[in-house]
Amino acid sequence: MTNLSIPTDGWYVLADARVHASTVDGLAGQADRDGFLRADLAIADGRIKAIAPRGDKPIPPRAVDLAGRIVLPAFVDCHTHLDKGQTWTRMPNPDGSFMGALTAVGNDRMAFWNSTDVARRMDFGLRTAYAHGTRAIRTHLDSIFPQETISWDVFTETREAWKGRIELQAASLVGAEQIREAEWFSRLADRVARAGGVLGAVTYLIPDIVEMIDRAFLEAMERGLDLDFHADETDDVASVTLRLIAEAAIRHRFEGRILVGHCCSLSRQPDDEVLRTLDLCAEAGLAVVSLPMCNMYLQDRRANGTTPRWRGITLLHELKARGVPVMVASDNTRDPFYAYGDLDMLEVYRQATRIAHFDHPVGDWPRTVGATPATVMRLEDAGRIAAGASADLVVFRGRSWTELLSRPESDRAVIRAGAAIDRVIPDYSELDDVVGRP
Ligand SMILES: [Zn+2]
Repeated sequence: MTNLSIPTDGWYVLADARVHASTVDGLAGQADRDGFLRADLAIADGRIKAIAPRGDKPIPPRAVDLAGRIVLPAFVDCHTHLDKGQTWTRMPNPDGSFMGALTAVGNDRMAFWNSTDVARRMDFGLRTAYAHGTRAIRTHLDSIFPQETISWDVFTETREAWKGRIELQAASLVGAEQIREAEWFSRLADRVARAGGVLGAVTYLIPDIVEMIDRAFLEAMERGLDLDFHADETDDVASVTLRLIAEAAIRHRFEGRILVGHCCSLSRQPDDEVLRTLDLCAEAGLAVVSLPMCNMYLQDRRANGTTPRWRGITLLHELKARGVPVMVASDNTRDPFYAYGDLDMLEVYRQATRIAHFDHPVGDWPRTVGATPATVMRLEDAGRIAAGASADLVVFRGRSWTELLSRPESDRAVIRAGAAIDRVIPDYSELDDVVGRP
C-alpha cells in the first residue's frame, strides 16, 4: 500500500489494526458487527510480541497507523496443482468439460513435463502466491508413470529453494485404477515417504474401489503417511466414495490426518444418504476442502447451450455443523481444469463467500483459508494472529467485509516474519518460452 511504510527491521507497532475474532488468540473486547476487534500488534524479531486492545490510547511511537484497516493472517492454500499451472496457452480445454480437462492435461504432461518445464511453472505459481500473501501450500503432483520420477524430485528441490518463504507440501495424484498396480503403488508410497509427502489418489466408482481405498490406507499406515483424496468430483449421485473413505478410516482406525477434496456429488444426493455420510465423516475425523472456483467452472457444464443450474460445491455448512473441519483452496490455475485463477487466497475467499454464503453471519469462516488448513497440514503456528507467532500478516485497505470483498485489494501489504515483502507478481510473458504466447 503506497501510503503505508512498514519498517524492514527492528521493532514496531501495527497500530489500530482490525483483526477478526476468529483469527486472533488472546484478545478480549467487544467485536464490531462484522466480528472484528481493533488492536495494536507489537512486532519484533519477526514475531508478534504482544496484542493489545486499541481502546482510546494515543498511537504509540514507532507505530504504523493502520486506521482500522483489516489485517488477516497470511494464507494457507491446502489444495493446488502447481505442476499443471499456467499451461492453458499451449493446451487449452477445448470445451470446458471435465473429460476435456483430463485429456488435455494428459496430452500436455506426455508432451512437455520434463523437470525444467515443471520447475519453471511451479516457481511462477509460488512467486504469485507469495506476492498475494500465502505462506503455505500443498500441491498435488500427477504421479502417473513415469511422471512421478520427474515431478517429485522437482518438488523436493523447489521446497528447499522456497524454505522460509512458502512451506511447500506435496501429495501424490493417481487415478484409482492405478492403485491396482500394487507393486508400483507401493514404490510410489516409498517415494512419497522419502520426500516427506502425503499419499493421495482420486476416488470414483470402479468395481474394486473399496479394495483400492483400503490399499491406499494400508500403504499410508505402513509408512506413517497422511492421506489426501480427490473424491466424487461429479454430479453423479451414485458416486459415494466420500462415504467409502470415511468407512475405511473407521475400519482401519487410521490415526493420521485425512483431507478429502471436492465431494461435489454429496450436494446432489438424497437427504437420508447425505445425513449418513455426514455422520460417518465426523466419526472418521475427515477434513474436507472445497474448491469453489474450479467446481463452478467444471460442474454442470452443459454441451447443449443451456445454463448451469448448480454451483458444484459440496455441503460445507452441513459438514461444519457436524464438526467436520472444512476449508477452501485454489485448486487449478490457468490449466485445462480451470481457465483462470492466480493462487490468490483472497480471491478464493471472496468467491467462496459468494458461492457458498460465508456471510450473514461470517462467524468463523475466515478460518477456512488459515487456521483450519494449517491444522490439516500440521503447521500449528500458521493461520493465526497470536502472541509469539511468526508475524506473517496481510494488511488490506478494507475496514469491513463489504469493503474487503468488493475490490481485488491489489495493493495489499504482505508482512512476512515482521518485514514487508516486495510484492512482485510475475508477468505472464516470463513463461512465453515455456508455454508459448497467446
Ligand atoms: Zn485438485
